Amino acid sequence: MLDVPHRKRRAKPALPVTILRSRPGKDALRERSRAVSSGVSALAFLALATAFAFAKIAAAQGSPTKATSATILVYHRFGPVAADSMTVRTSVFAEQLRFLHEHGYTVVPLRDIVNFVEGHGSLPARAVAITADDGHRTVFTEMRPLVERYRIPVTLFIYPSAISNARYAMTWEQLKQLQATGLFEIESHSYWHPNFHVEKSRLSAGDYQKFVEMQLLKSRQVLERRVGSHVDLLAWPFGIQDEELIAAARKAGYVAGFTLERRVAAPPQNVMAIPRFLVRDCDVGKDFEALLPRQPAPKGSRVLRK
Ligand SMILES: [Zn+2]
Repeated sequence: MLDVPHRKRRAKPALPVTILRSRPGKDALRERSRAVSSGVSALAFLALATAFAFAKIAAAQGSPTKATSATILVYHRFGPVAADSMTVRTSVFAEQLRFLHEHGYTVVPLRDIVNFVEGHGSLPARAVAITADDGHRTVFTEMRPLVERYRIPVTLFIYPSAISNARYAMTWEQLKQLQATGLFEIESHSYWHPNFHVEKSRLSAGDYQKFVEMQLLKSRQVLERRVGSHVDLLAWPFGIQDEELIAAARKAGYVAGFTLERRVAAPPQNVMAIPRFLVRDCDVGKDFEALLPRQPAPKGSRVLRK
């Protein structure tokens, strides 16, 4: 995971604010007016006044360099045509990455957004994380070259039962190759992508509990064994979660969960149900921009390069 040039604490305009808040007595005011009469002190006052003016502008706009919210995007399949609602054309994905790059957005590791919504650590303004669910082959064939071109971090949410098994899915070897690029992190999407609503209505309470435990724990264990990295993030299948599922996920060792609610992530936020935008093929230009955090771009910013 990337660590961060952008986790510096916000610089506070301590000195000007302190001066303004203090209520000096008459003696102190006389002292100050004597000080102002000297040329050197006048310059110092000018510098303080300028600093205070900038601090006021920053306070009025919100800090231009720190995020107040962040966007998590979720993709599934890529290809030359958008044959269904889960496919984004590769050319559209390329256009979206170019848009982020050219408009001062920073693609950050998903874990940085987890830390941010928990109140630990800050993010740069216009922070975006990119995720892809389900382990489709086109993540390897279509998405990977673009991710490598822009050198951006991506989190893949995988359900292990499909890997090296389902026709549309990647192989374990391909997943390991993606991980070896240092750009792709592999996390859990349950073991076989069940619909927990359906299973709950079908199974007895005891069997449902065992089923949930298996789906959450086995996925982590198989992924960790197969790709060799620590797995503790969970994308809820179909975005379905509730208090019982969240308690089971915590027990199974997950520290954060992700849904498919279409809104930005901002604290205060339940870390086990962090929202993500499902990206559609039609999300270009203004429609794509509407998914992204609305903050002034930090000067000279570019898509993060690892
Ligand atoms: Zn899924």
